[in-house]
Amino acid sequence: MKIIDKLKESVGKTLFSIEILPPQKGKNINDLFRVLDPLMEFKPAFVDVTYHPEEMVYKRRPDGLIEEAPLRKRPGTVGICAAISYKYNVETVPHLVCVGFTKEETEDALFSLYYQGIENLLLLKGDDHSNLQLFKANAHKYASQLVEQVANMNKGHFLHEETLNETQTGFCVGVAGYPEKHFESPNLGTDMKWLKHKVDMGADYIVTQMFFENQKYFDFVKKCRDMDINIPIIPGLKPIDSKAQLKMLPSKFFVELPESLTKEIESCKTTDAVKQAGIEWCIAQSKELKDAGVPVLHYYTMSRSQATVAIAKAIF
Ligand code: FAD
Repeated sequence: MKIIDKLKESVGKTLFSIEILPPQKGKNINDLFRVLDPLMEFKPAFVDVTYHPEEMVYKRRPDGLIEEAPLRKRPGTVGICAAISYKYNVETVPHLVCVGFTKEETEDALFSLYYQGIENLLLLKGDDHSNLQLFKANAHKYASQLVEQVANMNKGHFLHEETLNETQTGFCVGVAGYPEKHFESPNLGTDMKWLKHKVDMGADYIVTQMFFENQKYFDFVKKCRDMDINIPIIPGLKPIDSKAQLKMLPSKFFVELPESLTKEIESCKTTDAVKQAGIEWCIAQSKELKDAGVPVLHYYTMSRSQATVAIAKAIF
């Protein structure tokens, strides 16, 4: 079922959803199932599965020279979606990115997803961790272009006139939004102009980057509505579970952590105390958002279930 239809069906109710990562290459899929088993008790409306583009890694050869090699550390987004839908009968949302794909490769991937019965996609530019310009010559540069390609396929319009246009794919499309602005944008206003463009190209709903002060989400939603962005805006939440994340989250995701949260985490004497403080902060955020009537609470689990289970027990 399309996410957008699920949201229409559940007006007035806040749904639960999660994001997971595919396992690291070589890991057993049962490890992922052990993460998902306890989360499934809370009946997630959907499970997002991230996509990880190829990165360049450097290896020192025996002769001392450095060898550059492409490596995909977490392959299998689509296979993982199929495995999860089959095992738990839950809606899965594969993430699809611009980085590393030509438009033709994207079209082929979209046909495979369509044949597999996938109805929902989260479309993104993608992180280029290696900074090595893994955009191919005939690739999309921005998520809005990917949204436009999918919107065209939904109307039965494909890249080349040789393709038979007897099919309309009908994907429901989510895109990313940044309450604290995307790191490449000069200011929030410019970023939101491009967000509006993604919506105008055909996005059905927005999922936000994580934030740790609800006021940022409320302000963002207000700005969106003022700009005539009227689709559902799903808040993304991340429970902090280590002191290291006080540095890692701002540097990797460009988000601010409030002083009171930072002080509380820093004062914790044990790892368990840090986890508990992160859970309690996230529960407080979740309660306020639920009371404000958000359509879904979406949790970035980073493929760890303990904290999200504790939060879901308190909220759903
Ligand atoms: P875009 O919407 O393309 O925007 C990127 C930047 O370009 C912004 O600053 C925007 O303002 C600007 N911009 C947009 N259009 C134009 C234009 N036409 N001209 C000029 N400027 C423009 N990354 C992954 O690799 N895999 C994942 O699975 C993944 N999942 C994510 C899930 C969520 C909910 C979020 C919030 C992020 C996720 N990311 C993922 C990270 C994401 O790929 C990065 O944040 C990326 O840098 C931006 O992606 P986007 O789709 O928001 O980009």
